[in-house]
Amino acid sequence: MSGRFNGKTSDKFPLPKKMKAWVLGDPNELMLIDKPIVMPGKAEVLVKIDAVAICATDLDVISHGPPALIEGGLPFNKNFTPGHEYMGRVVALGPSVDEFKIGDRVTVEIHSGCGQCKRCRMGMYTSCHNYGLNYGNLNKGHRANGFTTDGGFKQYAINNVNTLIKVPDSMSDEEATLVVTAGTTMYGLTELGGLVAGESLVVIGPGPIGLLGVAVAKALGAGPVILIGTRESRLKIGRQLGADFTLNVKNEKDIVQSVKKIVGEKGCDYVIECAGTKEALNDAIMMTNRGGKICLAAFPHKPVQINIPHMVINNIYMFGIRGEGKSATHRAMQFMKEKRFNAKLVHTHTFNLSELPTALKYARERIDDAIKIVIKPWG
Ligand SMILES: [Zn+2]
Ligand SMILES: [Zn+2]
Repeated sequence: MSGRFNGKTSDKFPLPKKMKAWVLGDPNELMLIDKPIVMPGKAEVLVKIDAVAICATDLDVISHGPPALIEGGLPFNKNFTPGHEYMGRVVALGPSVDEFKIGDRVTVEIHSGCGQCKRCRMGMYTSCHNYGLNYGNLNKGHRANGFTTDGGFKQYAINNVNTLIKVPDSMSDEEATLVVTAGTTMYGLTELGGLVAGESLVVIGPGPIGLLGVAVAKALGAGPVILIGTRESRLKIGRQLGADFTLNVKNEKDIVQSVKKIVGEKGCDYVIECAGTKEALNDAIMMTNRGGKICLAAFPHKPVQINIPHMVINNIYMFGIRGEGKSATHRAMQFMKEKRFNAKLVHTHTFNLSELPTALKYARERIDDAIKIVIKPWG
């Protein structure tokens, strides 16, 4: 801590000089080290992390690099800490911060846009044109913790005040880490038009985003909501989160026809596509009715061939959804606060900070039916 820090700290939360932090070496190589604690600047706070969830995107970052972008390139061997779905307590305030108090429980969204580019000015800060431009003499003010700046697989993090959401005392640490996942589907559904009440909606792929997609869609009034997957255990959780119907691809001869049997010959109004495979994308196109909308919530690792003529002829819209923009996490938190759905159903495992490599293995190989795994940095 430098003597020049002119923000606020509290004796209630004494700050050590160093913390435990995982850093990324080569691909798939993580090291647990001591990192100095940096103090917050203007519009920033220091968060003592109490829980951080593992996301499929963390697995991509750790093994391949993108969408992380550190110092203009791949994130390897740059002393970079991944992890982006965390929550904790505010323990220091940067100069002039009055939006939060020391001791507030908060959860985070990822992106803090530069605030000056065309997209940020439209409120589309997850699509900031200055993503990752924050190194050397370049500092556009953009931050995305766990992607372009240090993330949450450690004990403390710096966050811009506009990336924080207050957590009620009644909500557990583990549940609070899920707000950003619910916020991603909330962003998708609101970008698709939002008025999904009474509209038929299919979710393909019961990962964390798909499962919470079911929950958010139901909370927004969509119906019937149909969940498609291959694992019975996950489909069961989908039903607990409100899915009116679940379809196991393995048991259906023709998944498009199975959906039409439920919603009618014309097809469904909305699809949230969370699988990212060629088959799932084409199924999504073929089960959507004329003028219907598809939300792309998963990203395939390579280009995929899809049925464009069918889309054009039938005026089917497709939306790429990046992150959890337009303050969607705040709307998701409101639903979770009101217990409109039980997000905790997707949390399956908890590990200590030192066990991160094991936890990542559980997430990658879905050991013991793992869905959402949470790390407790102080256990
Ligand atoms: Zn994530
Ligand atoms: Zn921007």
